[in-house]
Amino acid sequence: MIVVMKSGSTARQIEHVVKLVREMGLKEHVIQGTERTVVAVIGNDRFKDRTVLETVDGVERVVPILAPYKMASKEVKKERSIVPLIGDARVGGRKVQVIAGPCSVENKQQLLETARAVKELGATGLRGGAFKPRTSPYAFQGMGEKGLELLALAREETGLAVVTEVMAVEQVPLVAKYADVLQIGARNMQNFNLLNAAGEQPKPVLLKRGMSATLEEFLLAAEYIMSKGNSNVMLCERGIRTYEEYVRNTLALAAVPELHRVSHLPVVIDPSQGTGKSYLVDSMCRAAVAAGADGLIIEVHNDPEHALTDGAQSITHQQFGEMMKAIRRIAAAVDREA
Ligand code: PEP
Ligand code: MN
Repeated sequence: MIVVMKSGSTARQIEHVVKLVREMGLKEHVIQGTERTVVAVIGNDRFKDRTVLETVDGVERVVPILAPYKMASKEVKKERSIVPLIGDARVGGRKVQVIAGPCSVENKQQLLETARAVKELGATGLRGGAFKPRTSPYAFQGMGEKGLELLALAREETGLAVVTEVMAVEQVPLVAKYADVLQIGARNMQNFNLLNAAGEQPKPVLLKRGMSATLEEFLLAAEYIMSKGNSNVMLCERGIRTYEEYVRNTLALAAVPELHRVSHLPVVIDPSQGTGKSYLVDSMCRAAVAAGADGLIIEVHNDPEHALTDGAQSITHQQFGEMMKAIRRIAAAVDREA
């Protein structure tokens, strides 16, 4: 349930509501809105007596939440959430933010060349995996901490926000030390211990949808992170597995308006994992912006043919530049900018 305070309710009244919530054995999350404060009650409150809270001074009403997720739900917060990226760049505002870079960090030259190029062409974030979740144990597993150091070096030179994957609970402090945004990959969307750990640290999280997860499961995964205290979550649709073979994954673009309908969290599209084909990336970027995506995360490589991972879906610097020009026109048509 959520406890909607009257506008003008005092700090004392809010504190009292919090105290009662805790006495019920539940947790609270206080959301200070522009007009009024809302206290989201976290935990299984289905059998709790709402009327206890209804009569408290300063309370306007107590509303049950219908969605199984709460913090992530539009029912708790109507306004769109804005997640910080770096400096004053944010995801969820008017500007569609572009995060670009290689699938994996491979070496200094590869990363810096790509970082400089995408920055020049308008990206705000730099992607690049240092820890890679590979299907085969014999495939390139990523550079580990050395890769993180290179990402930090690229940030220092370009000012791009570093977005990189964390695969395990024990990697969280290390990755959080270097990254501006922790990426939780599709294969880890229901690694609940990892979600909790990401919720207990302060860096924003880019959560990818599992390749066979429903949107409800996706939002419940976001809820894990948020219920631990980290509200800076971006939802990333990266395609789901279907019977289809002409693409690596089926990019479910309807997820953009649907997630915006039920949640206040920003939505980012990954057209690279989402199609698996470099020649489909440009169109899907344009479609994503038209559908209202708040950000794009795109694989760009200085030499896709020789990429150690995901070369077939990586676009060149030149293709990235053309795509940026195209999405600027689309963004303007839907009252956004890119
Ligand atoms: C990636 O971004 O390179 C990646 C492995 O993504 P996903 O978790 O969506 O497969
Ligand atoms: Mn990849």
